[in-house]
Amino acid sequence: MFVLFGLRSKDHLVGTRTMTCEICRWEAPQQLIRRTTKFTLFFVPLFPVKPASHYLVCGHCLGFRKADARLPA
Ligand SMILES: [Zn+2]
Repeated sequence: MFVLFGLRSKDHLVGTRTMTCEICRWEAPQQLIRRTTKFTLFFVPLFPVKPASHYLVCGHCLGFRKADARLPA
């Protein structure tokens, strides 16, 4: 008998807002992404293993940086 288990991260688009990018300093659309990581058993995601993390992705330079979860979308 064997058991397949692991972790899977998935990104969800929360919203887009035009802001000044902290990396390139351009006024560009910033996508707020929420990333969740879940424990999987036989490739079926079962439960989250850590709190969700939030990221901002710049529409101009594609810079990827950690964001505050309370940022309004
Ligand atoms: Zn940028």
